[in-house]
Amino acid sequence: MEYTMGTLITGNRNLRSLVGVTVHEFVHAWYEGAVANNETRDQWIDEGFTSYASAFITNHLFNNGEGDPMLSRYNGYVRMAQSGMEEPMHIHADHYVTNSAYGLASYTKGAIFLHQLGYVIGDDALKRSLNRFYEEWKFKHPTGYDFIRIAERESDMVLDWYYEYWVETTHTIDYSVKSVADKNGTANITLAKNGVMPMPLDVEIEFTDGSIKHYYIPLRIMWGQKENEFQEVERVVAEDWPWVFPEYELSIDRSADEITKVEIDPSGRMADVDRTNNVWEMSSNN
Ligand SMILES: [Zn+2]
Repeated sequence: MEYTMGTLITGNRNLRSLVGVTVHEFVHAWYEGAVANNETRDQWIDEGFTSYASAFITNHLFNNGEGDPMLSRYNGYVRMAQSGMEEPMHIHADHYVTNSAYGLASYTKGAIFLHQLGYVIGDDALKRSLNRFYEEWKFKHPTGYDFIRIAERESDMVLDWYYEYWVETTHTIDYSVKSVADKNGTANITLAKNGVMPMPLDVEIEFTDGSIKHYYIPLRIMWGQKENEFQEVERVVAEDWPWVFPEYELSIDRSADEITKVEIDPSGRMADVDRTNNVWEMSSNN
């Protein structure tokens, strides 16, 4: 447990657990120590941002920075979302029905809030936002809105929808590749929005010649698009998706039989509650 001037850590733990909790409590020197949000109204800022930072630090210390430091948190979130026990992140800390819903909302969803925002605005814009958040709000009392406004300025995108869905509701995300069909030599990929929460889509397509192309579908309510995060892969910016439409047609300038694989969000940063339908493969469908 951390307080601004002191930290209490229980012993009798294995090394990884002891280092993990020590890193976590140290990071609280920044989140809640220097950038002091209200602990009962916006508890997800300090616990979530701290959990996000400590996930990457412990992954660096114990796994040489390899693997996905956020994977267990995403899996934990999906289990809780599917259990029906989830409660929104913005609830006053004293008013959760269960402890586990409080923990999930504050630590897990708070950490995913940042990692998934990196998917929405690009990882560089996320890092700029975190630095600017510290610079502008150290020794002050920011709310979640103050952070999302900084992310809007750093990304040139409208992000109120992201904050409202992720923080204020328990609506979930589920996109799928519905079909791949050929129309006069042009591939038509139908994507479906099965969940309530809308998101921009990164779609990776593999072709029979072994080449890979990224298709980026911005969300219309963002009024903008993220920077190309993966410069080594050609990116095509497709028409934006109005969030109310349940389906989207992505036209590819190649014939359908040249496509071997279509995958939504190969980076795994979008908290899609059913990833089994995110991939279409030629072998399994033909
Ligand atoms: Zn903590």
